[in-house]
This record gives sequence, C-alpha cells and structure tokens, in this order.
Amino acid sequence: MLSYRHSFHAGNHADVVKHTVQSLIITALKEKEKPFLYLDTHAGAGRYQLKSEHAERTGEYLEGIAKIWQRDDIPAELDPYMHVVRTYNPNGQLRYYPGSPLIARQLLREQDKIHLTELHSSDFPLLRNEFQKDSRARVIKADGYQQLRSQLPPLSRRGFILIDPPYELKTDYQAVVEGIKEGHKRFATGTYALWYPVVLRQHIKRLLKDLEASGIRNILQIELAVLPDSDRHGMTASGMIVINPPWKLEAQMKSVLPWLHQVLVPAGTGHTRVEWVVPE
Ligand code: SAM
Repeated sequence: MLSYRHSFHAGNHADVVKHTVQSLIITALKEKEKPFLYLDTHAGAGRYQLKSEHAERTGEYLEGIAKIWQRDDIPAELDPYMHVVRTYNPNGQLRYYPGSPLIARQLLREQDKIHLTELHSSDFPLLRNEFQKDSRARVIKADGYQQLRSQLPPLSRRGFILIDPPYELKTDYQAVVEGIKEGHKRFATGTYALWYPVVLRQHIKRLLKDLEASGIRNILQIELAVLPDSDRHGMTASGMIVINPPWKLEAQMKSVLPWLHQVLVPAGTGHTRVEWVVPE
C-alpha cells in the first residue's frame, strides 16, 4: 500500500529545484513548433492547498516557495515557473502550489500532449478532476514505470519524461534505472528528468554508477543541498538527473542555483552542483 502523500511536502526546497528544471526544459522544447509529449510517470494530485492540515503540519513550503515567489530580485530563469505559481495565486496570497502536472498544463501548447500516471487512490481522482476538460491530456491510474515501455517513443518523436517517485520503497532506486534504460532503448533522443532525494548519499552514488554503466550518454546532474550529507537528518539535498538536457540548461542552472541556495538557505549550509555524470 502506498502511504506517501506529496501534500505534506508540496512547495518545499526540493519542489523548487525540480519545478525550476521542469519549466526550463518545457520552455526550451517550445522553441520548435513541432509538438511534443510530456510524460509524467509519478504525477501526484496536481494541485496542493497550502493552508491544509497536511501542508501546515510540516510547514515545508515556508522553507521553499514562500521564500521566493514575492521577491523583487528573481532571476529571469525562474520566470516560467513563477508565472505558473502566480497564475494559481493571483491575489498575492500563497494558497495553492501547482505540482508538475499543472506546471506542464500551464506551459504546454495546444499541439502538445500530456500523459499522466498516478497510483494513489486518494490523489488519482484529484488529478483526474484537474484535467477533465483538457483534451491534450490522458490521466490514468497505472504504474509509472510501465509507461516508459508502453508510451515510448511518442508519435511526435519529441518528448520530455519526468520521473518523480517517492522512493518510499528501496526498490525505487533500481526501478528508476531499469525504467530509464527501457525508455531510452525505445526513445534515445527524448529528454528524461529523474528527481532524487539525498537521504543516504550512498544510494545516489550507486544510482549514478548504475546509470553510467548503462552506456547512456549526455547525463547532467543538478543538486541543491540545504545541509551537509548526513545519515541522521532525513533529506539533506535533492536533485535532478537530466538525460539529453536542452543545451542551455547547464548554463541556466549554473546561474540560478547559487541564487536559490542563498535565498533558501541563508545560513549557507549545504552546496549546489551542476555537473556532467556522462558527457555527450
Ligand atoms: N511529480 C509530482 C509533482 O512534482 O508535483 C509529485 C509526485 S510525488 C513525489 C510521487 C507520487 O508517485 C505520489 O503521489 C505517489 O502516490 C505516486 N506513485 C508511487 N508509486 C507509483 C507508481 N509505481 N506509479 C505511479 N505513481 C506512483
């Protein structure tokens, strides 16, 4: 049984990094007129109420999106992401956090396609309701990893695949690598973005080794840590591993990540990282 609910964590520092990368990838793909598929394997509920019991209990968004969205020195790289956050919060109060499916919905064009999967019996109906009137979207209650076999390659031969599991099961660390290998075998030119938490650094080292051993090239790692690595403090960092990133993404993240770190972690603990795991 799945117990993870993203509503406890929506808008935290990890979401800020994840959704910054997501919105920059979508923006880059829109530079060409040709349609593309947005495939979100672990989509969540879509929209999160920040004044809800779940979000207020952890207060994680207060250390994330709440620190950023109303500043007057926001770097241009955050424009697409901030545009979506403001669309859902038009009167200056932070009430809703848009998850990855709503960020995609707002940024994608008429000609693009959206394929979302979510397994949780409470979050799936919420997600389905959000997309009821969106003819670009298919929302199904199914296993996300399975989609990397069944939905690729996309008809348009252009695609962005977001893989964002909760890592509730230890097996997720292997499942993501197997899933990416399956997807890449079918669709080698797609852009894949895999989110990861740093709870135990050795899990991430292993994950990166397994990806390197797969023979897949053009892999960029983006990470923001709020604390040094530790085996006692829960999630100290998070990141995105991007395969076939748009060519500007490395420079964009090298420019924006230090700003995000400074704003999110005024104490200066932790680090930022933008590095090639495997070059092109
Ligand atoms: N991508 C979302 C966002 O950025 O707004 C957040 C997703 S949350 C981190 C992970 C989600 O994956 C949870 O809602 C969980 O129920 C769902 N999930 C867990 N295992 C899954 C699986 N095998 N297939 C599809 N969804 C799954």
